Amino acid sequence: MSPETLLTSTAFNQDQFNAHVMGTYGRFPIAIEQGWGCRLWDTQEQEYLDFVAGIATCALGHAHPALVETVTQQIQKLHHVSNLYYIPEQGQLAQWLVEHSCADRVFFCNSGAEANEAAIKLARKYAHTVMDIDEPVILSAKSSFHGRTLTTMTATGQPKYQKNFDPLTPGFEYVNYNDLTALEDAIGDIDEGNRRVGAILLEPLQGEGGVLPGELEYFLRLRKICDETGILLILDEVQAGMGRSGNFWGYENLGIEPDIFTSAKGLAGGIPIGAMMCKQFCDVFEPGNHASTFGGNPFACAAALTVGQTIERDNLLQNVEARGEQLRSRLRAIAVQHPDLFTEVRGWGLINGMEINAEAELTSIEIVKAAIAEGLLIAAAGPKVLRFVPPLIISATEVDQAMDALERAIQTVIPSS
Ligand SMILES: *Cc1c(COP(=O)(O)O)cnc(C)c1O
Repeated sequence: MSPETLLTSTAFNQDQFNAHVMGTYGRFPIAIEQGWGCRLWDTQEQEYLDFVAGIATCALGHAHPALVETVTQQIQKLHHVSNLYYIPEQGQLAQWLVEHSCADRVFFCNSGAEANEAAIKLARKYAHTVMDIDEPVILSAKSSFHGRTLTTMTATGQPKYQKNFDPLTPGFEYVNYNDLTALEDAIGDIDEGNRRVGAILLEPLQGEGGVLPGELEYFLRLRKICDETGILLILDEVQAGMGRSGNFWGYENLGIEPDIFTSAKGLAGGIPIGAMMCKQFCDVFEPGNHASTFGGNPFACAAALTVGQTIERDNLLQNVEARGEQLRSRLRAIAVQHPDLFTEVRGWGLINGMEINAEAELTSIEIVKAAIAEGLLIAAAGPKVLRFVPPLIISATEVDQAMDALERAIQTVIPSS
């Protein structure tokens, strides 16, 4: 598959870019200008297989006909209007989300961090007004990722993201992920009138922190603790949700339901949107409590509804399962060929990671760079994990082509022994 016309140009100038844009990202030296399906082209007309997908946002790949048609029609009709009025597309998307999840109510915003901020505000209000806790604590996990606003950065259990940005938001404590004892210790003995934990915020699978799936037993026990204590369980589904895990929501892989959960990245296939969803019993927001100017606009909501309907219509969850199996088995074969370089392959559906041996003198970034040179875009999840998050429409041939490219890339970076 290729676009009818390649619209790339060679006018891009890296120095001009760097002279004007803040240096908040470590960028690879290519400039992407066009996309089609699971392929991208840079300004030099180099072609890449896209296993980054906007970092897990472009669920339907690039220039998907259904998404193109929806957004083209919507922008001609109405693209933005204030939440002072009813927005039909917002209501339709909310209904779709409620019918395809455990949620009863939805709040819309524009990003993952904003969705988590909304969840934290909702949980704090619930803790104050229903649980009667004066200074509610939210427990989150070490090596988690919840966003870059001051509060979601505080919720993120990685000191490297917080350095030099203190004072942090009070009311957060951290526990090891998938560690029941640590969690029980942090909650403490509630019978002794020691109510302080209002909510637990976790990813069903830690994405940024190294593609680490949640463990079934841990989450089942966690759900039970929350049921017994009234503590709210918030799941951050920003990366794993909306079909990427092989189910619509990551929590389905864990056999539990959260009280509150958030979505963003893949929700509208790469058009900015965020959503915070909850069960009826904890929907304590009232008019004036929370708001977002762009949140729930007709453009983003129409796009998200099309993404959801396309995942269903085209049986993409089946594709996610099948291509995920294929991808992991190819990655495992690569790991077996290089036992001193790779220690583990793990993931769900089309969110997968390959861990590099801590002893090996090789970082994820070195392999990512080598892969780019072989026409494959992959992402790092920390210094020692490679992350594979292709569009949910990826084909069997494309998975094989990507793995062939990865094998070639690895050959070029193998430390000489
Ligand atoms: C990317 C991500 C976020 C932050 O989303 P933004 O849209 O960048 O604000 C939050 N949580 C998780 C799990 C993520 O992967």
